[in-house]
Amino acid sequence: MNLGALGINFAYVISAALFIFGLKMLSSPATARKGNLISALGMLLAIVVTLLASGLDYKWIILGGAIGGSIGLFAAYKVEMTSMPEMVALFNGFGGISSLILAWGAYHQHPQMSPFLAAIAFVSAFIGGVTFTGSMVAFGKLSGKISQQAVVFKGQHIINGAILAGAIGSAAIFCAVPGSWVGYLFFMVILLIALAFGVTSVIPIGGADMPVVISLLNSYSGLAACAAGFVISNNILIVAGALVGASGIVLTKIMCKAMNRSLANVLFSGFGTKTATSGTSDDGPQGEIRPATAEDVYYILEAADSVAFVPGYGLAVAQAQHVVRELGDLLEENDTEVSYAIHPVAGRMPGHMNVLLAEANVPYDQLVEMDDINPRMDTVDVCVVIGANDVVNPAALDDENSPIYGMPIIETHRAKTVIVLKRSMNPGFAGIQNALFFGDNTRMYFGDAKASIQALVAEFKS
Ligand code: NDP
Repeated sequence: MNLGALGINFAYVISAALFIFGLKMLSSPATARKGNLISALGMLLAIVVTLLASGLDYKWIILGGAIGGSIGLFAAYKVEMTSMPEMVALFNGFGGISSLILAWGAYHQHPQMSPFLAAIAFVSAFIGGVTFTGSMVAFGKLSGKISQQAVVFKGQHIINGAILAGAIGSAAIFCAVPGSWVGYLFFMVILLIALAFGVTSVIPIGGADMPVVISLLNSYSGLAACAAGFVISNNILIVAGALVGASGIVLTKIMCKAMNRSLANVLFSGFGTKTATSGTSDDGPQGEIRPATAEDVYYILEAADSVAFVPGYGLAVAQAQHVVRELGDLLEENDTEVSYAIHPVAGRMPGHMNVLLAEANVPYDQLVEMDDINPRMDTVDVCVVIGANDVVNPAALDDENSPIYGMPIIETHRAKTVIVLKRSMNPGFAGIQNALFFGDNTRMYFGDAKASIQALVAEFKS
């Protein structure tokens, strides 16, 4: 179909506007779902217009689209919320390899390209390759298919530096003579180096930091797509790639800030090499804990004027969001002021708690950000910590030797009473013990979060 350059670009402008509006709507839980849909519509429009304008052999495109679409749909329905970062890693990697193949295909079709275009093809193929293997390693670490430990050894930075220098040297030769067999040879070398560099740059990072790495790799995949857009002169690919690249880097920055760590610290410190991520930690604060039964907790909650739920990773594991909402409703019926305090890195992916609570239709006006609840924490009667650990660990404020020192936390220890729901005294993600559990105002309510809250709901109803 002949849409004409004007028609195509007009459709692309509409797509780009839909992407931008969609992205903007993702910034609030109230509009995020609609934002996602609007962005997806923008992408559908871009794909349809591009395909119609290209005059391709559609049977292969339709077959590929049907297979890819079915896999995506199946994966999205089947994936557990706790495995979402793994799936994002996998899909991110596919985005990277697409840019690599696209750049390779464009080069193969027109090897006599200008040095400038060759340089852009290099950027697309190299970043795409790094994103692909880097994302696969991140997927392997998150899914436990390979060791979560940070693999660090002496001279590692020098080796990585040498690999990078090799890529830049090869790129210089490739860009000088892209149309010759030497150029072709060095393009192949670049592809191999890119795939190797993705592995060597991600293995020194512990499984704990993988969500940050995925966010960064997501940004890379955007940059690779943006460069691929220049190679094949496709405006919407340039715009979409730039949006992904920029939003990925902003998200990475937000995550690092919420953990009080620099990006360099995430990428090069080997965090997670020494600390255990499971099992009972014998280090750190010890003391007497005060266990509570469902009945004890019921009486505390029943007498409270204000209750703040503080969800963490355990809420996702237990899938307790619906029953928490039910308890919240019962408390409100009892004239208790209810809020949900959200830490930006609670759980295992950005916005994890928002997604879970939105799924249970928790009213958005009851969600309170960390910076809003902390100043008034002394006035909160009861904080109910549901499967959160690191994000409420006071060591982040007062123990300079703690690996999480400096990370902002929800200061539940300042509430009048704290109820902690977890199954054992096991540490959380950072592998460290938590002084909150031994506080004078803390009661430990052990058990699976969903079962524990169900027991509380039963107490309220009886
Ligand atoms: P944590 O991992 O610190 O703690 C989770 C707690 O949940 C554990 O102590 C565990 O204790 C408990 N738990 C697990 N399953 C259940 C269950 N079924 N019922 C009740 N409790 C359960 O989680 P937080 O959310 O507090 O902190 C998140 C951590 O992840 C931070 O360190 C953050 O930096 C890190 N992180 C987060 C990212 C993000 O994007 N959100 C990205 C990268 C890292 P027990 O086993 O005893 O039940």
